[in-house]
Amino acid sequence: MSHIPGPHHHPSIQTLTISQQKQTPLHVLIIGGGVAGLTLAAYLQKASSHPRSIRSFTSTVYEAHSSSEASDGPGGFGFAPNGIAAFAPLGIADEIVKVSGVNEGMIFLTEKGSVLGRWRIDKAEYEYPMVCILRNDLLCLIREKLNNEMSRVEYGKKLVDIDELADKVVAHFADGSSAEGDILIGADGTLSNIWSF
Ligand SMILES: Cc1cc2nc3c(=O)[nH]c(=O)nc-3n(C[C@H](O)[C@H](O)[C@H](O)COP(=O)(O)OP(=O)(O)OC[C@H]3O[C@@H](n4cnc5c(N)ncnc54)[C@H](O)[C@@H]3O)c2cc1C
Repeated sequence: MSHIPGPHHHPSIQTLTISQQKQTPLHVLIIGGGVAGLTLAAYLQKASSHPRSIRSFTSTVYEAHSSSEASDGPGGFGFAPNGIAAFAPLGIADEIVKVSGVNEGMIFLTEKGSVLGRWRIDKAEYEYPMVCILRNDLLCLIREKLNNEMSRVEYGKKLVDIDELADKVVAHFADGSSAEGDILIGADGTLSNIWSF
């Protein structure tokens, strides 16, 4: 890992070191191509191209499902205004609203149908509405932001083992292939078992 000089160093030395760091991107292996994994890839890409960033990253998302299984994935997603706002810096918040159904309120029912509570959403209070979006539409919008040179997505890659070496990490997949990176991040959902490897 390169050293970033402190403020007492000569500015030109610091600039050189930072630009050197930017020239050697860290490669991030992201395990799981759900909302978290794809969003992380998009933000790493955005962070890398920011003029003041001192690091650049490339990433590959490895998703266990095949691409057709991933796009046929289950149903809808209730998306709250603050969740949509988190996608504004990626430039897709308005598109999310466009492809969604706006939800003006919610009713909470018991199993037998009696009303537990009602919640009306005051559109004026938030920048974005509450919406329902198809999970696959959301994933597609995020994936469209990925630039193939910096962030790729590979389907049918189920992580089965990890080797942590001194200067790199190696991910092993169920199909017998493997991939090397500088950092591995588990975005494999609530049933994550990456910690057990
Ligand atoms: C029935 C249900 C309804 C929900 N409704 C809502 C809702 O309305 N609104 C809301 O905000 N949230 C809702 N949630 C929660 C929401 O789905 C999760 O918070 C969100 O999906 C988490 O995203 P994630 O990317 O972390 O995980 P996930 O969406 O679970 O994605 C993880 C990905 O990792 C992949 N993966 C797993 N193991 C491996 C491996 N070993 N190798 C490679 N890939 C792997 C999986 O195939 C999956 O694609 C709901 C959840 C459920 C179960």
